[in-house]
Amino acid sequence: MTGRKMHYVLLLWALLLTSSATAYARVRPTANQIHRAIDMNGVRAFWSVMETLQENREPSEEQWRTLFETPGYAKLQQSDVQSNFRLAYMPSKAGELQIEIKRGDYRSRVLVYLRRVQNERDRIESFLNSFDAQYVIGAALQKCAVYLPKGATERRSLPMLAFVIFEPDGHVDDDVVIFDALYAIDRGNEFTDLLAHEFHHYYEPSKLRNPERSSEDYYMVHAVQQMQMEGIADLIDKRAYPIKADASRQWYIEQYNAAYLDSPKTLHRMDEVLCNQASSPMDIEKNEEKFWESLKFAGHPTGFYMANIILKYLSRRALIGTEMDPFEFFRVYNQAARKCGAQCYVFSDASMAALQALDLKYVK
Ligand SMILES: [Zn+2]
Repeated sequence: MTGRKMHYVLLLWALLLTSSATAYARVRPTANQIHRAIDMNGVRAFWSVMETLQENREPSEEQWRTLFETPGYAKLQQSDVQSNFRLAYMPSKAGELQIEIKRGDYRSRVLVYLRRVQNERDRIESFLNSFDAQYVIGAALQKCAVYLPKGATERRSLPMLAFVIFEPDGHVDDDVVIFDALYAIDRGNEFTDLLAHEFHHYYEPSKLRNPERSSEDYYMVHAVQQMQMEGIADLIDKRAYPIKADASRQWYIEQYNAAYLDSPKTLHRMDEVLCNQASSPMDIEKNEEKFWESLKFAGHPTGFYMANIILKYLSRRALIGTEMDPFEFFRVYNQAARKCGAQCYVFSDASMAALQALDLKYVK
């Protein structure tokens, strides 16, 4: 390499480095922005409600109002939260609590979890007090961007991250990520991945116009949307099949992995529903609703399966190309499934045409 050429290459490098550094500085939220995007008041208001209930008293209107005015609790179903808290903490409801716990359903798990919160107050407080928002939010932003179109995280301001106590879960609702503080502690290092999963939903540039709940298309469009958005976001925190976790969540892991394996059958069922084998429009609607209700974990494992097939037989770029249009996710999946061969379920032309009709109606 001549001196002149060398100089030119060095100059190019310098330019590249400067421009990427500027881009990073622009993308990275400031400490002030991050500070404004975190809310812990929900947990603080929760302690007051919990203490009153433990004394077998009904919290005052003011206490409930303070709780439900915090950004996280404001997004939750007030009556459900109140009845769970009363049952978990009021000594006079101990008998009723035991009956609910014996049912062994999701609510039973929530109640056992809420009981546990009482013994974990110090840990929860020290987690909140030492929460490194700058680091965690910065890392979650980077992780969610891996499966988003370039620049997607720059187009919206940061969502609010609101810590609450309600059940072992977290989700996003409009521009608020609601996360249970003890669940965040329980998940340890995985918490950043879970947060990145919710951030992915928030930044996903979807152009879908959701049909009204009363529309005959509601359940099918909802199923398509869920499979696409949860399937891609699960790549961030679940990474690869089979998913793993600690012993306390074994039931979830087993059911999730079984539903993942069952995906070709689930897609076959969806194909049949889309082909409208039923005799009347009423039956079609019923079948679509039944299909949605039969989808395990609201479409997560099957969407995750589809996203993995796209990654394996096409590319990450092809997957990201489906972010604006969930129906595109099905078209791209079908291309990947054709490449995969007999092992993968390929949708029929008739069901792809049905999806195309919905695409024209709700996206294009
Ligand atoms: Zn999700």
